[in-house]
Amino acid sequence: MGAAGQSGVLIVGGGHAGVQIAASLREAGYADRITLVNGEPHRPYDRPSLSKEALDDASAAQDFSLRGEDFFASRGIDMVQARVARLDRDSKSVVAQDGREWRYEHLVLATGGRPRRLPVPGAELAGVAELRSLDDARALRVALEAATNIVIIGGGFIGLEVAAAAAARQRHVTVIEGSDRLMKRVVTPHVSEIVADYHRSCGVELHFDDRVTEIRGRGGVVGAVLTAEGEELAADLVVLGVGMVANDELAAAAGLPTDHGILVDQQMRTRDRAIFAIGDCAAVEDESGRVHRLESIQSATDQARHVATTILGNTDPYSATPWFWSNQGALKVQIVGVGNPGDRTVVRREGNRLSVFCLRHGRLVAIESVNDPGTHMVGRRILERGEVLDEHTLADGDYDLRQVAKRAVRVGGRS
Ligand SMILES: Cc1cc2nc3c(=O)[nH]c(=O)nc-3n(C[C@H](O)[C@H](O)[C@H](O)COP(=O)(O)OP(=O)(O)OC[C@H]3O[C@@H](n4cnc5c(N)ncnc54)[C@H](O)[C@@H]3O)c2cc1C
Repeated sequence: MGAAGQSGVLIVGGGHAGVQIAASLREAGYADRITLVNGEPHRPYDRPSLSKEALDDASAAQDFSLRGEDFFASRGIDMVQARVARLDRDSKSVVAQDGREWRYEHLVLATGGRPRRLPVPGAELAGVAELRSLDDARALRVALEAATNIVIIGGGFIGLEVAAAAAARQRHVTVIEGSDRLMKRVVTPHVSEIVADYHRSCGVELHFDDRVTEIRGRGGVVGAVLTAEGEELAADLVVLGVGMVANDELAAAAGLPTDHGILVDQQMRTRDRAIFAIGDCAAVEDESGRVHRLESIQSATDQARHVATTILGNTDPYSATPWFWSNQGALKVQIVGVGNPGDRTVVRREGNRLSVFCLRHGRLVAIESVNDPGTHMVGRRILERGEVLDEHTLADGDYDLRQVAKRAVRVGGRS
């Protein structure tokens, strides 16, 4: 076992959250030793690009690094490449798979997640791809180039971004979605509809209310996808886009509570006061006991910034307005706030540009935009400031949210 180095802050995971907290600590003047344990064989990189630019033909030589080559060394951040295998809370230390060991005063778990596997026969066949890491994206780019019939399982953000990349290559693309519309968990039917229309216009076939029951191989590689509705779709590439599982095992094995993520309070602290969890791996319990886990860059980096201040003495709870984006071919989908199925909606639409305002008890709680970045940005400021903009104001077509011309407005229920 390696000699134990002592760090003021030890960070496990070199993704967006891990890199941000290391940077924020130094920016805020934290002077003690910071060790960032990066579990991947690459310098920390930008994950959203993996389903966007990294799938372009032109991306082979592109650098997706989050920070420059000397960023960490120049700030006195020790970045080590290792996978942490064990956490020992009694000795305040972690041990890597290769036996190296580090001690900490504060530990930050920023371990992200991994793609959810599909529990069907054939899911392990060659030609079944998932997308979480840079290596996954590089392999997928090559596979997209070679494939003719591509079946994407899951009509969520990642599946649809891959669908757009595949359709741009004029491949035959089918998306199989288990529910009755795209991105159902996170957007209103208005956005699902405009996004579905767009993908269809690119030649993508969308199958709703169907479920994959088997991936059938031919000669050891994927050949077809079978569904519960009795379809057999020819496929030489299958892409899984069925969600993510939080990497919470390190914490769980060390006796920390988990609930589809590492449970933290509103300061992002686990039940062990010396240990925080941030980003995709963190499940935040609010005052009412409800648990939320967000998978977004905004959430990972804002939580990281917040925990940096907590380590330096801030006692405020974490609070930020969530926002998210997804680029699908010519569509830019942006969401700010968190909508619920019961929210009232006000829709402004102008051609291919759409914004949906979600209201609860007359208060604006979320805005979903498609190709309407101006409204998204203004909406972000409105929601961040907590300004009250009620349904009647928004429903007023003359109300100039973005200093743009008035648009057609429909008011209805979100379902
Ligand atoms: C293809 C794709 C596209 C996306 N697009 C968008 C988008 O458009 N907009 C958006 O807001 N969000 C997007 N997301 C989500 C966003 O990337 C994540 O929310 C964000 O990366 C979370 O950051 P994180 O640091 O918590 O986790 P990650 O970025 O997953 O980083 C966690 C790191 O921890 C490492 N790790 C795990 N266990 C260990 C261990 N035991 N030891 C050492 N290291 C370990 C992992 O290998 C990984 O490098 C996308 C995600 C994917 C996969």
